[in-house]
Amino acid sequence: MEERVYERILRATKREFYEQASIDPTVLPLLEKADREGVETAWHRYLKQQPQCGFGLLGVCCRNCNMGPCRIDPFGYGPDKGICGADADTIVARNLMRALAAGAAAHSDHARDIVEVFRGIVDGWAKDYKIADEQKLLGIARALGVKTDGKSIMEVAKEVVEIAEMEFGKPDNSPLRFLNAYAPERRKELWRKLGITPRAIDREVTEIMHRTHMGVDADPLNLIAQGLRAALADGWSGSMMATLFSDVMFGTPKPIKVWANLGVLREDSVNVMVHGHNPLLSMQIAEVAKDPEMVELAKSVGAEGINVVGMCCTGNEVLMRLGIPIAGNFLQQELAIITGALEAVIVDYQCIMPALVDVASCYHTKIITTEPKTKIPGAIHIEFDKANARESAKKILKVAVENFKNRVKERVFIPKEKMEAVVGFSVEAILSALGGSLEPLADALKSGKIKGIAGVVGCTNPKVRHDSSHVAITKELIANDILVVGTGCWAIAMSKHGFFKPEAAEMAGPGLREVCKALGIPPALHMGSCVDCSRMLIALAALADHLGVDISDLPAAGSAPEWYSEKAVSIGSYFVASGLLVHLGTIPQVLGSKRVVELLTKDAESLVGGKFFVETDPVKAARVMIEHIREKRRKLGWPE
Ligand code: SF4
Ligand code: SF4
Repeated sequence: MEERVYERILRATKREFYEQASIDPTVLPLLEKADREGVETAWHRYLKQQPQCGFGLLGVCCRNCNMGPCRIDPFGYGPDKGICGADADTIVARNLMRALAAGAAAHSDHARDIVEVFRGIVDGWAKDYKIADEQKLLGIARALGVKTDGKSIMEVAKEVVEIAEMEFGKPDNSPLRFLNAYAPERRKELWRKLGITPRAIDREVTEIMHRTHMGVDADPLNLIAQGLRAALADGWSGSMMATLFSDVMFGTPKPIKVWANLGVLREDSVNVMVHGHNPLLSMQIAEVAKDPEMVELAKSVGAEGINVVGMCCTGNEVLMRLGIPIAGNFLQQELAIITGALEAVIVDYQCIMPALVDVASCYHTKIITTEPKTKIPGAIHIEFDKANARESAKKILKVAVENFKNRVKERVFIPKEKMEAVVGFSVEAILSALGGSLEPLADALKSGKIKGIAGVVGCTNPKVRHDSSHVAITKELIANDILVVGTGCWAIAMSKHGFFKPEAAEMAGPGLREVCKALGIPPALHMGSCVDCSRMLIALAALADHLGVDISDLPAAGSAPEWYSEKAVSIGSYFVASGLLVHLGTIPQVLGSKRVVELLTKDAESLVGGKFFVETDPVKAARVMIEHIREKRRKLGWPE
């Protein structure tokens, strides 16, 4: 059949688009391979979605009830209210808060699963998990006010887990215990005054769902205030518990040398990719892959061994704890399959494209879902049994190993690119690099050797040239003597592009370079997975306390240059509510309401000391952050 005109246009556009898709050298050849083999990726689907719905982009469509859907005409010629009378301000605020609630729920439900297994250690049913870092647990106990003297580690663990369990559904109005333990006093006082102290994680998320139901909260300020409360519950309790208990069970990360990018796949081995966020299964998979029985099985099907690699944040978890190589970040999940060299993708939850099943159907790769809350039609579902974790992980891994014989050698193309990186800078690891105290960092900040600190986080998104904003913003910040720390897919991008090598200090300004060389650290530090943004909160709180100021007084700022996820809405909001300026590099769906835009980008500052700004040009965004840091230094009386 003759090709239609729009298909030809699409093809021409596609070619240009491919070249613009990514700065990562592994992407273009794999997109071309996908094209040759008739496989679609997120980039192809993004192209097909053009032009994206203008109402959706502005956030002015509402389908919160069955009188609708309703939409507001942003140009003022059509309806200015939905059927119930909700205007653009109400609709935009409600939509944004629902996104935030989903993000906070995702992080916190991840925490719930971790805490549940920690309870299993205390009660004895989670026999394949253990308390790996007793000192960390004792530290948490002390922060929570649990007495540790004369108690066994299990007695302490029992008291701590009881507090953790109550964080989700505590029935009273007292502040969350983890927030109370780790947030600075000035912040807590401010949140109390504003009435946004979170009480229980599930309650704050549920209250957003209630308030955004038709006929409840129509006031954008009131809605956003509740959003900040739910975000604080996520950052200072939900995500924080996910981080703290993962450290206790799997070890607190220390600097470790690793490899990153699709070149970590191996032609001679069974390649298994763990993907998602939660380390409960991925840590077990990484361990059982070394089991002689499994290695023997791999040899029996003609492979040299089993090569476990990571993707997204479950990848970050095993990267920083075990040195398991990472294959890429969010937009590379389909490309890993397109190499033709992947026997299985074993997933837990979050950021797993349903399209993996379609892509895998063109190759021999098996997609294995393992969580009751994450099923994808067409995937193999093998439920991960946490009470028999090791055996269960073996059962899942065997499916991958046995699939090696189905690999079609002629269709394999593994890009050669991979980069060495040093990752795993937990707060404890940073302190240890500093010689055990914050004093050297405080001195470097005061003297201006290090001008400030930027937290850069978040995803990749086909709306942005893959990895380009992450790289450009980081380059600009470190060149201006700003130490960059971060998590998530930013951290994977940095690993791939050489920013996590100590030699990257050469890209830094003279002051930061000197400090990095003296400490033997890179100018950008990998602090972990998405939930590990809570490590940044702990570090900021400790630094603010050390200097005797509020977090909002620090020469610091945050950025999510390529974010896509609802979780990023929650992360950005808890940093703003904690007093930081936060940059967003993709435009949130809020431009349909002037009031909401003003609240987020102006008014928030007078209330909580932090605010958002949106800038799609990463270099311009870095300059705004640098100017903000300069301003904070001026106010502290420090040299610019
Ligand atoms: S809640 Fe109001 S604006 Fe939304 S769909 Fe229902 S009637 Fe329309
Ligand atoms: S940074 Fe974003 S895309 Fe990457 S794993 Fe986290 S939520 Fe997913």
